[in-house]
Amino acid sequence: MKLYEPVIQYEIDQKGRTEEQIWSGMGNAYQVMKEAVTAGLTEEMTSRSGMINNGAKKVYNYPKAVLSKEFQNLISRALAAKEVNSCMGRIVAAPTAGASGILPGTMFTLQEIHELDDRIILEGLLIGAGIALIIEQKASLAGAVGGCQAETGSAAAMASGAIVYALGGSIDQVFNAVAITIQCMLGLICDPVAGLVEVPCVVRNASAAAIANSSAQIALADVSGVIPVDECIDAMGEVGQSMETRYKETALGGLAATSTGQAISKKILIQDIEMLPDEKDA
Ligand code: SF4
Repeated sequence: MKLYEPVIQYEIDQKGRTEEQIWSGMGNAYQVMKEAVTAGLTEEMTSRSGMINNGAKKVYNYPKAVLSKEFQNLISRALAAKEVNSCMGRIVAAPTAGASGILPGTMFTLQEIHELDDRIILEGLLIGAGIALIIEQKASLAGAVGGCQAETGSAAAMASGAIVYALGGSIDQVFNAVAITIQCMLGLICDPVAGLVEVPCVVRNASAAAIANSSAQIALADVSGVIPVDECIDAMGEVGQSMETRYKETALGGLAATSTGQAISKKILIQDIEMLPDEKDA
């Protein structure tokens, strides 16, 4: 079997969908991902809190590339799709809305650089979905359960597996890329400022996209992550379980608990109260 075929079989068995429906659903999902990237790079992207303010466009248009134009594009596209989410636009939650910039940024850029057919990208996305299913069963995909490692970490793992597959890597290399990515993302807490999925979520989508690519590069060269992928996912589950509640999307710890984070939270709360209708008008 090809690596994406068990995922198709799972969808057919569990969801009762036909193979045509699955391919067309993946095609639609990839289209929405690409549209989110384009929207983030061309439309006004300021969130209601003001914390997100057209960052992707600024990165995309900055005249000096730190490494290469391709790397700059990767980072700005991951930021772009995630900014669309923070500004309440349409995205694909892959696997969650908080991590919705990572697969669009990586797959869009990979396809452009290597001039890949849509079909191989969709096969890669299916493999990413399979990787997410395994992580969901053995650990978690939710920041509220396992911290940010479960959201941006899982998305990066999905992307790195998809990249290795799309570039012709073996099954062992695909899962080694997943193992290496999880090793890099392990322990990341969920600490959204003011409880909004904006800071640090948006920039973490960019760093997770970079890690997905670095892990894929390492795995393609057959450099072992040493700890097998199943054990890495178990470790992610164990770390998530032992994480304190304040690091699980409660906005009580980490960056959310800093004095600046608290001041922003208070300001947003006041804004929200001012927006509520007066009792006599309600
Ligand atoms: S910090 Fe929390 S809310 Fe933000 S992306 Fe990570 S898991 Fe999601």
